[in-house]
Amino acid sequence: MLMRLAIFALILSGLANLGFAARDPSLWMIPALLAGWYAADMLSGMVHMLMDYHPARLGVGLDRLYFYPGSRESDEYQGMFRASMARLNPFERLVYDFKNHHPRPDALGRRTTLRQIGSTIVAGSLPVSLLLNAACLVWPLPGWAVAGVLNFLVGGTFAQYFHGTLHRADNPWIINAMRKVGLLMTPAAHQLHHDTLRRDFATNSGWSNAVLNPVFRLARRRGWLTDAGLEPQG
Ligand SMILES: [Zn+2]
Ligand SMILES: [Zn+2]
Repeated sequence: MLMRLAIFALILSGLANLGFAARDPSLWMIPALLAGWYAADMLSGMVHMLMDYHPARLGVGLDRLYFYPGSRESDEYQGMFRASMARLNPFERLVYDFKNHHPRPDALGRRTTLRQIGSTIVAGSLPVSLLLNAACLVWPLPGWAVAGVLNFLVGGTFAQYFHGTLHRADNPWIINAMRKVGLLMTPAAHQLHHDTLRRDFATNSGWSNAVLNPVFRLARRRGWLTDAGLEPQG
């Protein structure tokens, strides 16, 4: 119920922002839209990088879940899973989710869209969209700036959905069309991440990977990100 309310509020708030942008159309909107799309890609990569390497919470059995040898459908696993998750806060759950994605990538593609993007909407998209509404009411923001932020919001909101489409064969036509024109990356390009877990963290268009890859190498060299964080440690 709360989630439906958040989605409804986001749609209303987004339409209002679209209205604010439409009051002042200009050709500057084109580079602004591209910049917003780029920024959303970069955000997807930075969040992904930090979540992959941030150590998972210790002492709540996450290692046993991660390395569970039997069936994940079993009552034993399901019980362990519920018990562990109940002890995590939403951030810690997200950290575990990103790590768990590496050995079991297809699970993300099987999730419903709402499960993929629900937490992004509540924790990120809705607050930012409402702030943009407020800014438009207070200041005479140029239409191109509103359009750019709005496109950033669209890319950010659907980031985990886009990531899910990279791990699923059947996708809506629009996903394939966006891949063809380069607005979304291809599964082959994303596979480079899964092959090493040391590159190409951005999962929307992949445009920002050229910048984020050297950032990752520097962070790893300096010890800000350590390989021990990649898997739950017990
Ligand atoms: Zn990853
Ligand atoms: Zn993936």
